[in-house]
Amino acid sequence: MFKRILQLLYPKRCGACDLPLLESENFLCTACRIELPKPGLFLKQPNWLSAKFDGLFPFTDVHAFFLFSPGSKVQHLMHQIKYKGQHELGRFVGSWCGKHLQQNIRMIAYDLIIPIPLFPKKYLERGYNQAACIAQGISEKTKIPWNEALLKRTGQSQSLVGQNRVSRYETLSNVFDVVDPVPIEGKHILLVDDTLTTGATFLAAAEKIKAAGALEISFLALAALK
Ligand SMILES: [Zn+2]
Repeated sequence: MFKRILQLLYPKRCGACDLPLLESENFLCTACRIELPKPGLFLKQPNWLSAKFDGLFPFTDVHAFFLFSPGSKVQHLMHQIKYKGQHELGRFVGSWCGKHLQQNIRMIAYDLIIPIPLFPKKYLERGYNQAACIAQGISEKTKIPWNEALLKRTGQSQSLVGQNRVSRYETLSNVFDVVDPVPIEGKHILLVDDTLTTGATFLAAAEKIKAAGALEISFLALAALK
């Protein structure tokens, strides 16, 4: 009864469309669960996602769970996960994505999930790394282990907005460091991030992980801009 009154006074809202949720719904409303644009995982290559990395890095798979477009419900969802303290929403959507990954047999090829780290200062301000929440959710469903301590981001945070791919890549090329190469050596690593735009962040991290001895690297973003 008390829970019902609370829900009437402060309704839980959908993370994507912001409408009040029904009592039976969690994090996302039923309409959004059905309608949010999902391009599908394990797309046949070449495709619009693989084109972002073609000729730049020998990756294996690249996945995006949602299609991102400016002003969309997906953008609202990503904003809630990144900037509004909704780390549980990130974990929930990560676990949803993990459920879809699990339906494909090739998924078992991944040995370890590594989330893209934040700059330490940003991590302290935000209190959590949204990519780690997503990675945790994926790991819970797929049982692929995840580790957020193997890769770190160093140096000063610098805004990438407005920079083209080459200058973004230059800015990023030395910000990642592998802390411990042993768990990475000879493994197929699934790098996870919240949003994929140009791919420069994934590229910079992948170069370091490859140099540390990884056998194969695949990318997964919760949302990607076409
Ligand atoms: Zn909704």
